[in-house]
Amino acid sequence: MVDRKFFVGGNWKMNGSLSQYKSLINDLNKAQLDPNTEVVIAPPALYLLPAKDLLTENKKFELGAQDAYYKPSGAFTGEISSAQLKDAGIPWVILGHSERRTIFKESDEDVANKTKAALENGLSVILCVGETLDQREKGDSIKVVLGQLEAAASSINDWSKVVIAYEPVWAIGTGKVATAEQAEEVHKAIRDWLVKTVGKEVGEKVCVIYGGSVNGKNAKELASQPDIDGFLVGGASLKPEFVDIVNARL
Ligand code: PEP
Repeated sequence: MVDRKFFVGGNWKMNGSLSQYKSLINDLNKAQLDPNTEVVIAPPALYLLPAKDLLTENKKFELGAQDAYYKPSGAFTGEISSAQLKDAGIPWVILGHSERRTIFKESDEDVANKTKAALENGLSVILCVGETLDQREKGDSIKVVLGQLEAAASSINDWSKVVIAYEPVWAIGTGKVATAEQAEEVHKAIRDWLVKTVGKEVGEKVCVIYGGSVNGKNAKELASQPDIDGFLVGGASLKPEFVDIVNARL
């Protein structure tokens, strides 16, 4: 069995204020975080550069954007690009989050284009996939998730820069966490797909993390599953319990 790193992302979404992001970053700087967990925090784009200035020298975590457009520059009001993230020294980006897919109508093709641009600019990507409640009830969870992955895969030539986040849409921000068995079943299907599609050596190294109402209480059980390599955390990443989630393997 390959020993994969444990990876935890904190997606602050469109939350926070100037004073709040400072105290969240400073609290994390002071916290005892498992040195074997890779941590990435994604504040709103507005706070990325000032947040970067608050990182300590022995950086315990890195910063990521919540989205990035694929064109490098131009008349795209309101967008920021992967090229600009690279220029600003922001190493990570979340792509294909279900809120982008549903509220902002991003297609699989958009997500693939964004993934390609991010990797070409040297960024690392947290690529989100996940089924709706309706799709789960129809028994289509794995089909949907693998379809979303397949759509993005042709844009990926370096899997060492990609973390896959399985985020069932019905579990995001709802308090309805997937059971460890439900999550493990999909993670195992993703792992098998990776091994089959990109090869055993590469496929076994990709981190596949779970997102959807993870908190300080349910993180340990989920983290004990063989194919769950960490978490993408929304609501709880704004609370002190985020530290317990980062330390779920301790
Ligand atoms: C998310 O938005 O990626 C997420 C998992 O949110 P929450 O933890 O709040 O369900």
